Formats: sequence, C-alpha cells, structure tokens
Amino acid sequence: MAENSLFENALKQFNKAADVMDLSQSMRQVLSFPKRELTVNFPVRMDNGEIRVFTGHRVQHNIARGPAKGGVRYHQNVTLDEVKALAFWMTWKCAVVGIPYGGGKGGVCVNPQELSISEIERLSRRYFSEIQIIIGEGEDIPAPDVNTNAQIMAWYMDTYSMNVGHSVLGIVTGKPLEIGGSKGRTEATGRGVRVVAEEALKYKDMDPKESRVAVQGFGNVGSFAAKLISEEMGSKLVGISDVSGGLYNPDGFDIDDLMAYRDQNNGVIDGYPKGQKISNEDLLGLDVDILVPAALENAITEKNARNIRAKIIVEGANGPMTPDAEDIVLAKNTFVVPDFLANAGGVTVSYFEWVQGLQHYFWDVEDVRRALHKIMREAFGSVASTMNKYNIDMRTAAYVDSIEKVAHATKLRGIYP
Ligand code: NAD
Repeated sequence: MAENSLFENALKQFNKAADVMDLSQSMRQVLSFPKRELTVNFPVRMDNGEIRVFTGHRVQHNIARGPAKGGVRYHQNVTLDEVKALAFWMTWKCAVVGIPYGGGKGGVCVNPQELSISEIERLSRRYFSEIQIIIGEGEDIPAPDVNTNAQIMAWYMDTYSMNVGHSVLGIVTGKPLEIGGSKGRTEATGRGVRVVAEEALKYKDMDPKESRVAVQGFGNVGSFAAKLISEEMGSKLVGISDVSGGLYNPDGFDIDDLMAYRDQNNGVIDGYPKGQKISNEDLLGLDVDILVPAALENAITEKNARNIRAKIIVEGANGPMTPDAEDIVLAKNTFVVPDFLANAGGVTVSYFEWVQGLQHYFWDVEDVRRALHKIMREAFGSVASTMNKYNIDMRTAAYVDSIEKVAHATKLRGIYP
C-alpha cells in the first residue's frame, strides 16, 4: 500500500481496537474490506466545446446495519485509497451514534475552482448517472462533503429523479430546504462538534466560559463549530485559520462578522483586519484549551504534534491527525475526541432528512436540534464509559463501541449463503 495511505492509517486504528476486544480473525477480515468499490471514468463537455474525462469513485464499506451513507468530495487529490478510508470511517460513525446506516463515500478527482458553474453541473449530473448502478434510497444515500454543497445535491436528486421518472427525495441528503432538505442540516456537523466539546469540558471538569478555543478551517464545519462554541457555550475563539492562513486575537473574534467578511472575500479570511496574522502551523500550536482541526486530513503529523498545547482536541475534520501524531499528543495527556464521534452531527441530521423525505413530513428546527443534542450526548457518554472500562484512549473506545454493534449485526444476519 502507498506511503501515508489514509486507508492503512484507518486500519491501524481499527486493529488497535480489535486487539482490545479480542475480535476474531474472521470478523476482522469481514470488517476490514470495503464491500464494493466502483471507479468511473466519464466525459464532460467543457464550455469551450472540448471534452475532458474525469475519474470518480463510490465505495460502500459495510451495509450490515442499513444502507450505505456518506458524502461526495470534489478535490484534485481524491484517490480510491482516500475514498475507501472515508467510507470505512462512515461505517463506524453511523454505528457509534446508533443510526441505521452502513458506511459509504464518493469522490471526483477535480479542482472545482478551475470549472465554471455549468461545467460543475454537467460533471455532477454525469458522475451521479454513472454511480446510479449502485445507489438508491434503500441502498446508498450520498450527501455533501468537501467542495460539494446543497446546489450539487439538488442536481444529483434531479438527475436521479429524471432517470427513474419521478421525484425521489430520499436519494441524497444535504438538499436545499425547498426540495426536501432538513432544517438544521447546514449547521449540523458544527453543532455536533459543539455538543461533544461541551461534554469533553464537563468530563475534564473545565469551565466553558473560561475556555479558549482555536479552530483550523473556516468552511462549513469550522465556521459553525466556532460560532456555536462561542455563542452557546460562552468560550472564547482566539485563533482561526483557513487555506489562506491564520488569525489570532486574544480578546476573541466576533464570528458573525468574520463569516460575513469571508462571504464577501472569495470564501477566505485573508485580510480580515481584527486579528494578528499567523501561520497555520502557529495556529495548531496556540496555548488554548480546545483545538478543533476542521479542515482536511493529516493536518497534525509527527512533525508538528509536539508543538500542540491544547488540553482537548475535538476532531471536526475526518482523519486530521495521523496515528503517530496521536501517540505523541496522548503521551502529553491531551484528551482527543475522535473524528467519527465528533463530526457525526452531520450524518445524524442527514438521517433525519432522509426519514423526513421518506415520510414527506418535515420537522421544526427545534425538534432537529433537540434530537441531535440527545444523540451526540448519549454517544459521548457511552464511548466515555467504554474508555474507562478498558482504560483506553477515546478513539479506540469509539471503535470498540461501533465495532461491537457492526460485528453483532453481522453475526445476527449470518454469512450468506
Ligand atoms: P469546506 O470545504 O466547507 O471547508 C474546508 C475549510 O478548510 C475551508 O475553510 C478551507 O479554506 C480550509 N482549508 C483547506 N486547506 C487548509 C489548510 N491547509 N489549512 C487550513 N485550512 C485549510 O469543508 P467542510 O465541509 O467544512 O469539511 C471539513 C472537514 O470536515 C473534512 O474533513 C470533511 O470530510 C469533514 N466533515 C464534513 C462534514 C459536513 O457536514 N460538511 C461532516 C463530517 C465531516
């Protein structure tokens, strides 16, 4: 396998937990392999009339507990290895919060910044038609991820609906409200991060109002996590960064002002006047109580893990820390709330959206938030007690909890034929 393989890193984490639980070799094998891996190469007509061929993937890791569920990412670094790792994590993410899904993920290798809106629409419609052979509202339900959004989900839903001849609301989640989206979906991952951050502070006997926070990444997850942690918990956001660099303000940022600035500044915080410019590396090393990496994977590695001073790391992104880096921060007694627990708020509200779409009955935002908070708090509590029972770190405990559920479902269903 390739050096720095994300899937290999994911398997290392899985095997650490499988050792703790003494999982049988047969079950390890069943749970280690993705069930299906589809790669599609498809042509798209560019605005200038030329045709370009793009490569996309859809991976379904496990469907023992329900249909596959997971986002689609558009990025120039998308590989099958990455999509496999992300699908693998989705299995454990859905299991750890107890929602009835397996794990799936998709991706297209493309830099969307280089495409016009109509090129992105044609690419999205063609990619979705290509993967239609393995998806369906009872089989596999895609959603947004990095560089995909509600508009792209609307095109996916429309493409599928045109192909089958009627509107299918349950085929994707993260849709606009007008065509079957759920209230509270946009903020959901950030809100889940906020709930587990509060639980982590409680667990460590720390006061949210006295806590300082730094967030890496100011996209969907990072900006809502920053906003809700400061607005609802009263903690102070002192550091923030995105692809354009970082900012530090010891008095705390006004997040709405920062979000408004970003929205008028090509989506980046570069040039925001009410903070001191710092690098992304400086941000990771700030003296804070909570650090939320919410950008891309492998942000914290063995090269910079020693600089981390945060007492708690809440992983908003998927795979933001390598296993070697985690060993370093755990040795310093840093409390790590692992990605597939911390960022499960998004898929949880996606589940609510899917349920609402199947029933054609839509909830108030208060009901969505209440149900999300309950699920996140209970999942944190259950993983924390597994952590104490086995005296292990929280990531391994989250794997133990979720592997138990998936292994149990697999045993109950049996091996076909
Ligand atoms: P996004 O595209 O909205 O935001 C990504 C942010 O990261 C942007 O602010 C970007 O500028 C920043 N960024 C990119 N490279 C960076 C770098 N090198 N240093 C610092 N910042 C950098 O994406 P998102 O939806 O917020 O997703 C972020 C992470 O959270 C991903 O790992 C994704 O898989 C994960 N996640 C997202 C959701 C969701 O609902 N959107 C759910 C679960 C997990």
